[in-house]
Amino acid sequence: MAMIAEHADLRRLGGFSGPDMPEEDLLHACVHCGMCLSSCPTYRMTGQEMSSPRGRLWMMSAVAEGRMELLDPVFTEQMYQCLDCRACEAVCPSGVQYGVLVEASRAQIEQHRQRPAQERAVRKATLGWLFGETGRMRGFVGLTRFYQRSGLSFAARKSRMLKLLGMEELEGMLPPISKKFLVAGTERWSPPNPERTVHLFNGCIMGTVFADTNRATARVLAHNGSTVETPAAQQCCGALHVHSGQLDLARDLARRNIDAFESAGAEAIIVNAAGCGSALKEYGHLLKDDPTYAQRAAAFSDRVKDFTEFLAAQELKPPTNKVTRAVTYQEPCHLAHAQRISAQPRQLLAQVPGLEVIEMKESSLCCGSAGIYNLTRRQMANDLGDRKAKNVIATGAVDVITANPGCAMQLRTSINRNGGDARVRHIADVLDEAYGGEKTGRAFHEVSK
Ligand code: SF4
Ligand code: SF4
Repeated sequence: MAMIAEHADLRRLGGFSGPDMPEEDLLHACVHCGMCLSSCPTYRMTGQEMSSPRGRLWMMSAVAEGRMELLDPVFTEQMYQCLDCRACEAVCPSGVQYGVLVEASRAQIEQHRQRPAQERAVRKATLGWLFGETGRMRGFVGLTRFYQRSGLSFAARKSRMLKLLGMEELEGMLPPISKKFLVAGTERWSPPNPERTVHLFNGCIMGTVFADTNRATARVLAHNGSTVETPAAQQCCGALHVHSGQLDLARDLARRNIDAFESAGAEAIIVNAAGCGSALKEYGHLLKDDPTYAQRAAAFSDRVKDFTEFLAAQELKPPTNKVTRAVTYQEPCHLAHAQRISAQPRQLLAQVPGLEVIEMKESSLCCGSAGIYNLTRRQMANDLGDRKAKNVIATGAVDVITANPGCAMQLRTSINRNGGDARVRHIADVLDEAYGGEKTGRAFHEVSK
């Protein structure tokens, strides 16, 4: 029924029509003051007004007022040149909700334009099929891991085949894939005398490529008094679908996640990937017109907490191990701007004995990852990645710490390309190390078949 209601929407606003139009009131909130311009990565790289938040909002209003065509190439280009990093939103004095506006504009473009057959097939195979079911993602990442570990990867690089296929950089983005994936519902961490039970959002990339980081996250939570469960049947968060204008696919995943966490009686839902966290916290908005799920989605979103947000709100049990090294922290956009979580990760790192945290320049400027932006818009993504890498290298830090898988992969490849050797690590891995790592968590780790 909900899907029928979504498609039965026949409203029109200038060049926008049908479901998921940008909301007129939100468009009017912009007073064109320009205070967001210096925060916008694409404006800083191009210096062009049309590549700024103000320019893009002006174009959205122009389409809404019928002064510009929805499929005008300048409009479609600018809606997708934007990284959806939300840096503009975080500094806007008028409270413009830029993220939902650009996402609705993309949804409109996708509804009304016919992409070439090849692009449609790729989007269907990835966003629809691969990200539509965690089991398929595990199968795909499993094959990639075989490629990585079997020597095929080495041979492909040696033979220059990857270079010829233009995939050398893409391959370089992948970190060593975790040996054992984390399958939701099969692992649990329960410390002696737990104070609460929390549920870990596993995620499709975090639960496979970065499964060891999810286990590190669970151990740190357990060290701090939480029993950690990973409810079965949970799916991808849908963030990539929202960013790609595929809101119906995102809604389908959101409903399945709400069902999975509701039936497990979730108290707090902990997420360690900034992009996923931001999407989960916005399920209330995504499903606001769904009569069956609207309230449940809002209640679900209220329970979602970023790992650092949750930990920093309690007194941290003092870490036992020294981590003697210099590190720097790079802020994921969807943590700093979309969720406004900036102080908490630094607060936690400051409590790790031995750790020297050196602030880098432009820590919160987008690294160019932005979902699949670094795959679809290589030039801008590489330019931003180079800028970020140079700022990391200038600190002389041994590790660069972040809290999002997309940023981790983009940082890795950008630092390599710029001749740096800083390792990229998730904040959960560093905190876990400070508690003694895997060994100390074994006593309260249960695995079921
Ligand atoms: S989005 Fe906000 S900061 Fe940017 S021009 Fe509009 S009102 Fe000003
Ligand atoms: S979301 Fe980021 S890239 Fe897009 S307009 Fe805002 S600041 Fe610029």
